[in-house]
Amino acid sequence: MTTPVIELNEARRIYPTPQGELHALAGVSLTIQAGEVVAIVGRSGSGKSTLVNLIAGIDRPTSGTVRVGGSSVEGMTESARSRWRGRTVGIVFQFFQLLPTLTVRENVMLPIDFAGTLSPARAKDRATELLARVGIESQANKFPSALSGGQQQRAAIARALANDPPLLLADEPTGNLDSQTADKVLSLLSELGARGKTVVLVTHEREIARRADRVVSLADGQIAEITHREVARG
Ligand code: ADP
Ligand code: MG
Repeated sequence: MTTPVIELNEARRIYPTPQGELHALAGVSLTIQAGEVVAIVGRSGSGKSTLVNLIAGIDRPTSGTVRVGGSSVEGMTESARSRWRGRTVGIVFQFFQLLPTLTVRENVMLPIDFAGTLSPARAKDRATELLARVGIESQANKFPSALSGGQQQRAAIARALANDPPLLLADEPTGNLDSQTADKVLSLLSELGARGKTVVLVTHEREIARRADRVVSLADGQIAEITHREVARG
């Protein structure tokens, strides 16, 4: 039996707004097993980022539970959560969010420095190795602004892998890339899934539906449909 890596049980996230309560997530129950690649799709405003932020422990549910790797995310203190996140979750965003004043290698070393998992010398080696793995080793000493969008996203993926987290979350990682570059980034992410990482990614790219184990469609903060790969390919 595989242990579920992510377990949401009736997770709700309600935002108070001047117009009243906004149910960004209106009771989502979902179990994702270790090593699965799950794509989250849905229109803008359907709750995709809210869902990813709950899994990442960036945000807490208003009610319901979110468990990741056996830990109850909402029960942790802020500092425990940030330590937990550093070791357990790698996150990739649409706009890369690399620090402009650090070189590409230093960006990748940053989560290792935060977690204190390796000595500075070993962290540097690890960062170089990860940049080679995502195919941009030659860019290591440059600043992010000197890289193309696709290269910056590869750097962000290397950074997300820095502490070798079992879980990789990506919120529209290809939203800012041309379709050919997007395809390469999606290949890289699904390859990581094939190597045993659990990957949850929000995407508009139809192509991912054929590579993900499951596609979860959100509509108005609820799961509208779940498609398994066999069906998606058929
Ligand atoms: P998606 O990522 O699918 O576009 P989001 O999860 O970002 O959707 O947002 C879901 C809903 O929650 C949207 O209606 C959005 O406007 C609303 N929302 C998101 N964040 C906030 C916030 N901080 N305050 C109020 N409403 C929010
Ligand atoms: Mg979003």
